[in-house]
Amino acid sequence: ATPTALLVGTGRGSQLGILIRGPQVLEATRRIDTVLLDKTGTVTTGTMRVTAVLPADGEDADAVLRAGAAAESGSEHPIARALVAAVPDAPRPESFASTAGLGVQAVVEGALVLVGRPAWLRDAWAVSVPEALTAAAEEAEAAGRTTVAVARDGRVRGLVVVADTVAPGAADAVTRLHDLGLETMLLTGDAEGGARSVADQVGIARVTAGVRPEDKYRIVTELQAAGRTVAMVGDGVNDAAALAAADLGIAMGTGTDAAVEAADITLVRADLRAAVDAVRLSRRTLCTVR
Ligand code: ADP
Ligand code: MG
Repeated sequence: ATPTALLVGTGRGSQLGILIRGPQVLEATRRIDTVLLDKTGTVTTGTMRVTAVLPADGEDADAVLRAGAAAESGSEHPIARALVAAVPDAPRPESFASTAGLGVQAVVEGALVLVGRPAWLRDAWAVSVPEALTAAAEEAEAAGRTTVAVARDGRVRGLVVVADTVAPGAADAVTRLHDLGLETMLLTGDAEGGARSVADQVGIARVTAGVRPEDKYRIVTELQAAGRTVAMVGDGVNDAAALAAADLGIAMGTGTDAAVEAADITLVRADLRAAVDAVRLSRRTLCTVR
């Protein structure tokens, strides 16, 4: 392909709401055979809402949610935004840190509050979720929800259940990717149940759930080693390494700066159908110059 034809392609891309880092990106786009999709914020809208609070024995649901919201107020994660929206007057934490793909830790009113994946609380903090709550969490996840545990002073005080919505256009985009002969796989740090439910709704057969950011990166490089040419679509800090390693990184325009910076293509309107347009555009652009 001549550089001129490729530049025409990138210009057309911006009309479609696709920002392409450089003309060479279309060449990579054309060769893609496998598309890995992050779940939260990519296949789903990323606007989560709190649907239930499950307090541990003797705990108060409002206090659980309030502590969780306070701890999350420094995080950009969709789960964090849901908790903060549910408790607008939550106190600000005295200190805060987050661990991508796992959860947040904060000091709230003098106490250490953790919010995140139950397995992270257990493995990194030696705080485990009571049996009764584990069963409730599994039930919520089987129904497609995401649950996070809230611990304060070294004890799990309850679970917060959040719901996300499959993005309009996501199912259509997946169908069109399959029509183009591409294989898809859903990759998520979220639990298996919720991931399956979303995958079923959009028609993705292969699901890898419970993955850490470094696992997303590893999956990309393993597929490449097996001869695949891989596109990764994501929105989060947790996707940045995989986006950078992929042959083609595609970031949702609504995503975090880390994702956008690591990507080759940004979808301005955060509509997955624009990713399909990018693939079709690259094929068309390169055809016209042959
Ligand atoms: P995805 O891969 O679907 O975008 P993430 O990797 O961002 O999901 O998150 C995976 C899991 O890590 C979440 O389901 C949640 O349990 C936990 N987690 C990540 N960030 C946070 C946060 N800010 N607050 C609570 N839990 C979090
Ligand atoms: Mg995400």
